[in-house]
Order: sequence, then C-alpha cells, then structure tokens
Amino acid sequence: MSTSQVQHHPVDGFTIIPVLKAFLPRTLPLLRRAQFPHRSPSFYITATFSPGTAVESLPQCFAVCILDRSRRPETEGWLFSSGEIEGRCPELKNNTENSSGSGSTPQQCPDCTRAILSLAKHIPSLPLPDSVHGEDNITKLLTQSRSDQPSPGQTSAKQVSTLDYSRHITNPNVMVVGTIAQFPAEILNSQGLIRTDLPGMDIPYQKFIFRTSDLRHVDTTLPDGLRWGQVRPQDFELVRSRTAIPRKDKTLALLPSVAIFREENSGGDSPVAWGFLGPDGSLASLHVEPNYRGRGLAKKVTTKILNEQLKVFDEEEGKSEQGWICNSDVALDNLESTGVARSLGGRPGWVVYWVRVNLEKAKALP
Ligand SMILES: [Zn+2]
Repeated sequence: MSTSQVQHHPVDGFTIIPVLKAFLPRTLPLLRRAQFPHRSPSFYITATFSPGTAVESLPQCFAVCILDRSRRPETEGWLFSSGEIEGRCPELKNNTENSSGSGSTPQQCPDCTRAILSLAKHIPSLPLPDSVHGEDNITKLLTQSRSDQPSPGQTSAKQVSTLDYSRHITNPNVMVVGTIAQFPAEILNSQGLIRTDLPGMDIPYQKFIFRTSDLRHVDTTLPDGLRWGQVRPQDFELVRSRTAIPRKDKTLALLPSVAIFREENSGGDSPVAWGFLGPDGSLASLHVEPNYRGRGLAKKVTTKILNEQLKVFDEEEGKSEQGWICNSDVALDNLESTGVARSLGGRPGWVVYWVRVNLEKAKALP
C-alpha cells in the first residue's frame, strides 16, 4: 500500500485548528493540544492534507497527528482519523463503535488506513529530542514514576504496575500515543504496530464529554475551614505519591491546576484535594485525601478547574452560551470516577486507549 503525503502544519495551530473545530467532539484532545500555549522545539503538527485546506475541501479520508516526544515517557502523540466520524468515510458503513468498546470487528477503509500509516511511518524520520526529564532521571523514573496515562483507578480490576507504564523510556523506538480511539488503534494494531507486551488496548477508557454550562449549578463554595489555591511546586511530591499521577515536575509546573487547602495553615501546609488539566485539556489527576472524601470536593475541584482554567486553551470559547467543551478519560471499570463524571453531567463519548507504538515497524512500512 502506497503512502499519502505527510504535510507539516504551522505549530501555532493556525491551519489545523479550524479543521479540528469542524469535527468536534472527536477531535477535542488534538484541538486542545494544538491550543496549549507551551510548545517545545520538537512540537509538530502533521496531517495528510496541505496547510490552508478549507474544511469543505478536505479529502473524505484524512488523518492528523500532533507530536511532542520531549516529555517521554509521558504521552508523545495524539492521532485523529476522519474514519472516526460516523458517515464521513464512504468505505465505512455503520461505523458506530458502541460505548462499551466491545463492538464487532471494525471495517477497514484503504484510504483511512493509508492516511494513518503514512503519519506513523513519518514519525521515525523526525529528530528524537532528549526527554526534558533528563537522562539522569531515567532510573528514578523507572523506580518511582508513573506515566501520564490516567490511573486505571483504585477500583480497577486491572492493576498495572507503574513500572509497566514507564519502562519503555529507554527505548526511543517505542512511542506513547494517548487517548486514541478504537478505529485508528485497530488499524495500527492490524499492522502489528502496537506493542502488546506493554499496557495498551487491554485497558480501555471511557471518554466523557462535558459542557461547562452544565456545571453552572455546582456550588464551589468550600466548607468552613477550607480555602482555594493552586498546586505549588512543593506539593508535587505529594501529588505524585497520592495518585497514579501523571506527570513529572517539569510538566506539572506548566499545567493549570486548582487545589484545596486547610484554612488555618495558610503557610506550608499541604493541599487536601486537587486536580489538573492535561496538555490536551483533559481533566487529570483528580484526587481527594481520604479524610476529606464524601463532602463533594471532587465535584467542586472539577467545576472550579474547568470554569477557570480552560481559558488557557481558548478564552473566546468560554464566552459562548454552552461554555467550553471539555473531556475526561475514566477506566471502564473505575466505578467511582465514572460516578463523578456522570454527576457532573458528563456524557459517555467513545472508548480510548493509551498505546505504545513500535516505531521500528512503522519505519519499515511500505
Ligand atoms: Zn476512509
């Protein structure tokens, strides 16, 4: 199968953002990643159409991949295929993944497949940056860190060790593609491009879609004795120790956050609840300390961070009647987080995975 031509788009998102907006909510993680203002020198936006292509002139079948490999072993790539859009691809009839992720064998379209594989094959031709987390930290990462994959959760039946999430860091031929939908994941998988010895399609996540207008009724007033703040650098160690958190200090420092502190110790005291927005705008690392659970704090943290911090990605969008569109990824068997998502008006969107792509195989694609 011949490949499509891969085009690089301006990293400020000028040409890709209008396209991504036209296919919401499916494109939401890529849209937010393109809007996130912190772009490393190895940030790339690639697509199988030229910059400046109007939405109405797009090919029926196309794909977009956003890359930043500088934060390995955190998520390095985000991939969207137009085959995810119901009715878009003429070759795909009844392309309706059911929300439980246990759909029938997906149909394949040669043009969609070509688009996805072209982008995958292009990745190993790009320069591999050093991880901002530093080579010195690799041992530390391997022993104590976790990936920025959302935690399968304490209630998850599938307990994957944190080592599993990070042990690919020493292998530059493995790349984490995050929050990828079933359709493009199946195409990568059908070509043997997904490492099956590392966590991947065995851990499905439900993507929930929210509108901040749904949250206007949520009261973010705190109980007596608690106050709002933001997660500070001195809190990062606690954050990492409490959740299957996501990210390393250098990344946490860039991410929007909110935290709840005890009022009486306004100085060096630790937060009792917190949440972050990931670089793709998803709600990440929501946590409430055990002694503070059952008081609705998770809902307040979620509401506060979405209402106040999504402006980092797109200030104008928040002024619309429906407010911002936002998302979170919850392991399918994490009933507690599923309950929080639903109580906030979250609607189940589609199933996503964090996969480890084998770039040696991608490079060898025809
Ligand atoms: Zn197609």
